[in-house]
Amino acid sequence: MNRKIGIIGGGQLGKMILDETNKMGITVSILDPSNESPCINLSKNFIQGDFKDYHTVLNFGLKHDIISYEIEHINVDALDELVRKGVEVQPAPEILRVIQDKNKQKSFFKKNSFPTSDFYYFKSKNVLLDYHKKNNINFPCVWKKTKFGYDGFGVKILKNENDLFDLPDSEMIIEDFVVFKKELAVIVAMNKNRDIKTYDTVEMEFDPDSNQVEFVISPANISEKINTIAKKTASDLAKKLNLVGLLAVEMFLTSDEKILINEIAPRPHNSGHFSIDACPTSQFKQYINTIINCELGETFHENCAVMINLVGEESHNGLVKYDNIDSIKDRKDIFIHIYGKKMTRPNRKMGHVTVICDNFDEAYKKAKKIKNIIKVKSY
Ligand code: ADP
Repeated sequence: MNRKIGIIGGGQLGKMILDETNKMGITVSILDPSNESPCINLSKNFIQGDFKDYHTVLNFGLKHDIISYEIEHINVDALDELVRKGVEVQPAPEILRVIQDKNKQKSFFKKNSFPTSDFYYFKSKNVLLDYHKKNNINFPCVWKKTKFGYDGFGVKILKNENDLFDLPDSEMIIEDFVVFKKELAVIVAMNKNRDIKTYDTVEMEFDPDSNQVEFVISPANISEKINTIAKKTASDLAKKLNLVGLLAVEMFLTSDEKILINEIAPRPHNSGHFSIDACPTSQFKQYINTIINCELGETFHENCAVMINLVGEESHNGLVKYDNIDSIKDRKDIFIHIYGKKMTRPNRKMGHVTVICDNFDEAYKKAKKIKNIIKVKSY
């Protein structure tokens, strides 16, 4: 592998990609704005720079043969220019363009007959209020900012008309509220030869206060029929997008047992972290396999995995410490991953722990216990 690879974004996903590439002897450069990036000591070629800036991305990209990314909010015009100049950008910039805008993303699902909830697009708050005056929006419904939302920021459940008036002014979509039994996700990998591999469907449990993923359960407690439909939906999406890379597909399982796509991300994803310890090929290794067009690795796992996100406690800002982490560090069934971020703040993703057991009940019980004893605090 003597082609030069550059990855845009140097957060925890970048770190876990480098953990794999360093093992494989593949050199990867990273572009990230922070001098406290978790990647800074893992890449021999760490470039500090703003990935939203056209020239920074262009100059970084031109020094490489292959460019990829582990974050979505980057300058996509520069990626287009890199493709024109002969740099291989994977996943392709047009995929990122669709994903960066929730209106374009939902329109893509609808246009290609992928199941998703109905929605309307509004250019501004005034246009929305005007529409409501004439057509009476149904409540509850879901407001989403079309751009720059993440981890539930930029999403609000609207219960009544008053909630409409409280919204900020931005481009938005209003979606039908989905009554769901579970939130599911599938990670699918596809290389240039169009070989495809999916991981098991996982189930995501959210913290009701922060709206962030608290536990990821793999495999999900669903029927084989739903598992097959979810995996096929993810594969069909990857094919339709001509993906080279990974795609995380977040879905709802509705109360009447239907799958609706919520959103997609063209990169390794929090819902796939279990694969590091549970599967023969981690999502990060698989991601590299796709980018360098290697044969894809096996994705099955025989045990039950529960992944717990370690996030910053409320009202703790500053130098991080991990309360009680020593109590689990020697356990054979528990795998600790600390991302190496110096500073914690409320709800910041600082690490994760994966519990692996023979059965779900045991793994879930242990995961709950870990969630209660390991606390991410500041000094
Ligand atoms: P983000 O991109 O910030 O992660 P999502 O679109 O995933 O935002 O929404 C965050 C959460 O809001 C989802 O995980 C889900 O719990 C809830 N949600 C989103 N859309 C809907 C919907 N149409 N109906 C019901 N709940 C929804």
